[in-house]
Amino acid sequence: MASDGLSGSWFPPGASQRYVAEAAVDAHGALTVTVEGEVVTSAFVEKLVVSERVASIPRRITFPDGSLFETSDNDGVDAITGAHGTAAGIIDGLERYRPRLFVFAGLVIALCFLVYRFAVPALVEVAVAVTPPIVPTVLSQSALASLDTTVMSPSELPADRQAAIIAAFKAIAAHSPRGADGFVLNFRKGGPIGPNAFALPDGNLVLTDELVELAANDEAVLGVLGHEIAHVEGEHSLRQLYRAAGITGLIMMIGGDIGAAAEDILVQGSALMALSFSRKQETESDRRGVELMLAAGRDPTAIVGFFEKLLNLSGTAQPPSMLSTHPDTQGRMDAVKAYAAELKARDGQGR
Ligand SMILES: [Zn+2]
Repeated sequence: MASDGLSGSWFPPGASQRYVAEAAVDAHGALTVTVEGEVVTSAFVEKLVVSERVASIPRRITFPDGSLFETSDNDGVDAITGAHGTAAGIIDGLERYRPRLFVFAGLVIALCFLVYRFAVPALVEVAVAVTPPIVPTVLSQSALASLDTTVMSPSELPADRQAAIIAAFKAIAAHSPRGADGFVLNFRKGGPIGPNAFALPDGNLVLTDELVELAANDEAVLGVLGHEIAHVEGEHSLRQLYRAAGITGLIMMIGGDIGAAAEDILVQGSALMALSFSRKQETESDRRGVELMLAAGRDPTAIVGFFEKLLNLSGTAQPPSMLSTHPDTQGRMDAVKAYAAELKARDGQGR
């Protein structure tokens, strides 16, 4: 390709002497510099080193022989070098792409946020959906066995008291989609864990003697159990567990053997107990508990009575661990009362 010549100066290798020169691409595709009609240097465009284009600063084209051609004809240089895709052309291209680089970096940050905000919860849902039923069973049994050998001991609650609570509990659980048979209520002496109740992912619920004593009346105990039923319904333990596994763990679990992976994590069972539910899960369970109590013809705000007892202990030397695992008790009491009133009002309208 031949092109219009560029006017400029030529500097011989290692010399500061300047010659008025012309440069043009010849028929073979080489940039050829002539001084007073005589060829002084020539090289294929690919072999040239061209300085970056910065505003209107003259461009320097270095030839393989070390000589230099300088010109202010920026467009002319671009027309020659850009068309041939020289290294300089690529560098110039990168310069121009820098704003795009910032856009790209911004997109990566936005993507990370989206992954955190949406992909993790989505993967958690997939993991929960593909979890074989044996996993919650294994997790729950190992957790229960571990607690039984460490902190908990057999219940000392009289058998008739246990029977009465179980009968009322089953009547409430019957309103859960799992049905009354989907749950097993276990009585234990809590010891170090004190007044406590918790749900294992397979539907096993643990109720401590200390909680029954603290609640003073069965209605409050049932209110707490309604809340625990909701944790099982919502599969909150599995979700928290999978959330803790992180995105890599989730992908490994979903892609590989989810059963073995989950078993690995929870082989001591203590991991399950170390999990705490999210505020959202607690709120959800409080509300669901109110619904279940109402459906069973019980006092939907019964759990509030238990919370009050719990709060009375908060200033004591040994505040119950349940307070730390269930924060913002006062706010939850208010929310429970408000939701129960709302449901009752709605029920009243329906009639
Ligand atoms: Zn809870």
